[in-house]
Amino acid sequence: MNFTVGFKPLLGDAHSMDSLEKQLICPICLEMFSKPVVILPCQHNLCRKCANDVFQASNPLWQSRGSTTVSSGGRFRCPSCRHEVVLDRHGVYGLQRNLLVENIIDIYKQESSRPLNSKAEQHLMCEEHEDEKINIYCLSCEVPTCSLCKVFGAHKDCEVAPLPTIYKRQKSELSDGISMLVAGNDRVQAVITQMEEVCQTIEDNSRRQKQLLNQRFEALCAVLEERKGELLQALALKQEEKLQRVRGLIRQYGDHLEASSKLVESAIQSMEEPQMALYLQQAKELINKVGTMSKVELGGRPEPGYESMEQFTVSVEHVAEMLRTIDFQPGASGEEEDEEVALDGEEGSAGPEEERLEASEGSLGAPTPNLNQEGCAP
Ligand SMILES: [Zn+2]
Ligand SMILES: [Zn+2]
Ligand SMILES: [Zn+2]
Ligand SMILES: [Zn+2]
Repeated sequence: MNFTVGFKPLLGDAHSMDSLEKQLICPICLEMFSKPVVILPCQHNLCRKCANDVFQASNPLWQSRGSTTVSSGGRFRCPSCRHEVVLDRHGVYGLQRNLLVENIIDIYKQESSRPLNSKAEQHLMCEEHEDEKINIYCLSCEVPTCSLCKVFGAHKDCEVAPLPTIYKRQKSELSDGISMLVAGNDRVQAVITQMEEVCQTIEDNSRRQKQLLNQRFEALCAVLEERKGELLQALALKQEEKLQRVRGLIRQYGDHLEASSKLVESAIQSMEEPQMALYLQQAKELINKVGTMSKVELGGRPEPGYESMEQFTVSVEHVAEMLRTIDFQPGASGEEEDEEVALDGEEGSAGPEEERLEASEGSLGAPTPNLNQEGCAP
């Protein structure tokens, strides 16, 4: 249902009336223009009476209309903009009247004299009954309507109530709704703020966990480096031991070879002795020496496979396999009791898992993080 809004004051509200009034003030008498109103060539307006006063003041010798002595007009300046106004022989009577301004003044005066000239005067009028104000509320159709509509018209079988009652009720209803909506918006804002805090907390917690993860792996690397060092050392010890033994044997064999060679040399020399008696003087000793030399027990030789370093092989496959099982253990914050910022209701989930992680870390013998280990720096 459409309504036509009937504005009783045609010129709008009190405020626009005030600003209109300011436009209708004469710059000479400082009151509202009094008719007739004349418009100057510069488009400024004056009461004709005031224009005449200004003109007379600047042309004291000029005589009024009808005089035969003066055929030319005169001149004066517009009090608003100082523009020179040249008059013909009719003087200010020759100036054009501003009928528009005069009409506006008439209407303004009518409106100002009307009682209760305010916005409250505006009434919504019934579309069906043009002279009837909308003054009751149809409860059945939930629309405002007019009394005639209730008596004869569209709402004659409807239940109606006085407009102010429903006005008050619906106004407080809407006001309650607004309050609820505002409160709701506050709650939404609070939730947003809370979730922004959650984002911040997620970032903080992630940063801390990444740090811990790094430390854990650096510790693991340290264990590996330490163990590698131990095994390399053991291998080097064994290598040295074996080399020492074999080199000792080589020296022993070398010494024997040298002694044996010397003996061979002196034996060959004595073999060349032509005199039997002389030969026999040395022969027995040499024969004994050669016999002894040939029976010398050398220190033995490295048993077969002595050179093998096979036993210094490590198998890491199972350890590597185990390393690949390293995984996150929710709820276990590790042995350092780090304080993780948690939201409500998320605490207390640590339990057996935490113990399990601590136990497994213990079995790996995780030492304190050592950042100086070669090859494990991040
Ligand atoms: Zn005036
Ligand atoms: Zn002017
Ligand atoms: Zn009606
Ligand atoms: Zn109705």
